[in-house]
Amino acid sequence: MLDFLFKNLSRDIGIDLGTCNTLVYIKGKGITIKESSVVAINAKSKQILAIGDEANKMVGRTPSHIVAIKPLVDGVVSDFEVTEQMLKYFIDKVYRRSPMFSPRPRVVIGIPYGVTEVERRAVEEATVSAGARQVFLIEEPMAAAIGARLPVQEAAGSMIVDIGGGTTEVAVTSLGGIVASRSLRIAGNELTEDIITYARDHFNLLLGERTAEQIKTHIGSAYPLKEKKQIKMRGRDLITGLPKEIIVNDEDIRKALTRSVNKIVDAIKTTLEETPPELLADIMERGIVLAGGGALLKGLDKLVSKTTETKVFVADDPLTCVARGTGIVLEDIEALQEVLLPPQYQRITH
Ligand code: ADP
Ligand code: MG
Repeated sequence: MLDFLFKNLSRDIGIDLGTCNTLVYIKGKGITIKESSVVAINAKSKQILAIGDEANKMVGRTPSHIVAIKPLVDGVVSDFEVTEQMLKYFIDKVYRRSPMFSPRPRVVIGIPYGVTEVERRAVEEATVSAGARQVFLIEEPMAAAIGARLPVQEAAGSMIVDIGGGTTEVAVTSLGGIVASRSLRIAGNELTEDIITYARDHFNLLLGERTAEQIKTHIGSAYPLKEKKQIKMRGRDLITGLPKEIIVNDEDIRKALTRSVNKIVDAIKTTLEETPPELLADIMERGIVLAGGGALLKGLDKLVSKTTETKVFVADDPLTCVARGTGIVLEDIEALQEVLLPPQYQRITH
């Protein structure tokens, strides 16, 4: 009886706790929160000053005693307390929007593939202490595949490549499970770093992280573009200490990104090599699907397609794939039970 009431009143939510962005999906409503995974802390008093987008605005602009922390550096909880606070902030935000008192939500949350049991538990515990009534864990590549509407429960192979900020996860799914996979700590952040390194080594120019990211999203590419593009890189001259501006084109930036991009492509190739031939045939027919913010790198689909000799598609709205996937699971947990992690990792609290 109580359980029945809970089910009808509670705002069950799906969370994509990404290294760069945290998204929250509310059952029956869709994605309502999309904010940076950043927390600003006063290092002297340990007080939290801001969370999410507000904290992100402070990155690189804070006085020395204020630090902006990204608690999920490589996709897993590297700072437990901060992660818990961040989750609490997002869960509370959902609560504040509820019209009346509602029971604590059930939460479906994505975690990177291949994390250790200790790390799983850390995410689970942080979610419970942040206010969840029950937690369901799902591997991010599985959630991304579901969000991209791949037929993960069929006896057919599908390949999803989720390129986030901290990690790239390549996975082949079939019958509700992951059959072959690769996870590497080279993704969007590394590409941004590559641009910073390039500017420093070639022009003695120190770029801020946000500037480098803008350059990446504006003219970054993995394959020659149809139209040439150029952009001004603004930063500090490391020799004079003064502001400096250099104009670069898409080819310069493409070269700067080549090494990291190739590592991502190699991971896809190796995963294909480990995929059973029957499933490989399915993948050839349906194509490889790219998700995550990194999927938006211009020409990456083309490069992957050329090197693997397979069709490649970028998922619709790749940045929201994982969150939409957790949402699809939420809407029908019973039918999708098999794609969740086994129950020994789940803990129910009332
Ligand atoms: P996470 O799941 O780790 O939070 P996201 O899937 O949200 O990561 O993707 C964030 C990454 O995508 C960042 O590194 C960001 O720079 C990158 N990104 C976003 N848009 C683009 C774009 N248009 N081109 C290249 N990279 C992009
Ligand atoms: Mg992600």
